[in-house]
Amino acid sequence: MHIDSAKDVPSLVGLDMDELKAALASVGLEGYRAKQVWQWLYHHGVSDFEGMSNLSKAQRQVLAEHFTVARPVIHTHQLSEDGTQKWLLEYRDGNKAEMVFIPEKERGTLCISSQVGCTLTCTFCHTGTQRLVRNLTAEEIVAQVLVARDAIGEWPSPPDGRLLTNIVLMGMGEPLYNYDNVAKAMQIVMHSDGLNMSRRRITLSTSGIVPEIERCGRELDINLAISLHAVRDELRDELVPINRKYPLSVLLDACRDYPASSDMRRITFEYVMLKGVNDSDEDAHALVALMRHLPAKINLIPFNSWPGAPYECSSNNRIRQFARIVENAGYASPVRTPRGQDIFAACGQLKSDSERQSKSRLQNQA
Ligand code: SAH
Ligand code: SF4
Repeated sequence: MHIDSAKDVPSLVGLDMDELKAALASVGLEGYRAKQVWQWLYHHGVSDFEGMSNLSKAQRQVLAEHFTVARPVIHTHQLSEDGTQKWLLEYRDGNKAEMVFIPEKERGTLCISSQVGCTLTCTFCHTGTQRLVRNLTAEEIVAQVLVARDAIGEWPSPPDGRLLTNIVLMGMGEPLYNYDNVAKAMQIVMHSDGLNMSRRRITLSTSGIVPEIERCGRELDINLAISLHAVRDELRDELVPINRKYPLSVLLDACRDYPASSDMRRITFEYVMLKGVNDSDEDAHALVALMRHLPAKINLIPFNSWPGAPYECSSNNRIRQFARIVENAGYASPVRTPRGQDIFAACGQLKSDSERQSKSRLQNQA
């Protein structure tokens, strides 16, 4: 039996259990089949209906006529000399987004995207210069995890000894501007009948969309990272323009109230090191003062440059001196090692050519 699942039909990936039941019911499959299909998708990782061997041939056929479970197209897949892998995935409308897998001794972290591009315009971020933006659907967000698991050969979902242990929402886009799809995707990723990722091993990074921070804590209870980058409103207004709407005091109040924040589970504050902009001793002291009454981890990120970037990375000495002040205040090894630089996979370097793509498509249509 050959089933072509690449047709333009709705995907079963990214539906919650109730939606999956309804979709199967619409083609005459009983409710209990939803759990079977769910396990095929997220425990066994099948990407076509043929593999669903506890369904009859006729059932597989009818599913394949009406739905797809196919993966997005892997447009490019690169391997860095340090073992980091980067994929550019192409979705069904031709839009593209990147994801990165970072293997380390004790863990393997998948950095996924939540949007194509980003509507925000942080001045040091390459993604922010990409004009075309759309939200990724829950299907497209979950599919990133499935593609990564295909590549590292981690099916069926192993109970322990996994290579892909952590997920960070630190790729392209502002996840809290696409909260509903991100939340739905993370619920699927955490579901115990499938991928079964622990909420303790999922971290969402935000530039500080205050109203959604509370929701994220209450509904998802995953780890939070805040892109801080400046300790004074005047400078943060410039680097992270959403600060004009949600200034530091309001943002830090939301962090204090984050339900998951405790001594055991700290909020990560990301701070990009920009030469002569935010990297003085005074800034370092102000940073630790700002963190004083928060359950905080500090993560200093050496600025990763990109063509036309208006900043330079602070010198190694400056970063070391800044880190020393932070360490003396009780924060352990706060500097993030850049990974995958040879394949342009490091923080803030992700950008797809979706903008150009769409322009040429518009021209073709015209
Ligand atoms: N939009 C979200 C998540 C994606 S960015 C956010 O801003 O938090 C992930 C992290 O990389 C953020 O802390 C971001 O500020 C940082 N970053 C962006 N551009 C960077 C660059 N060029 N060098 C280093 N870090 C960068
Ligand atoms: Fe968007 Fe985050 Fe980049 Fe700012 S740092 S432009 S919020 S992706």
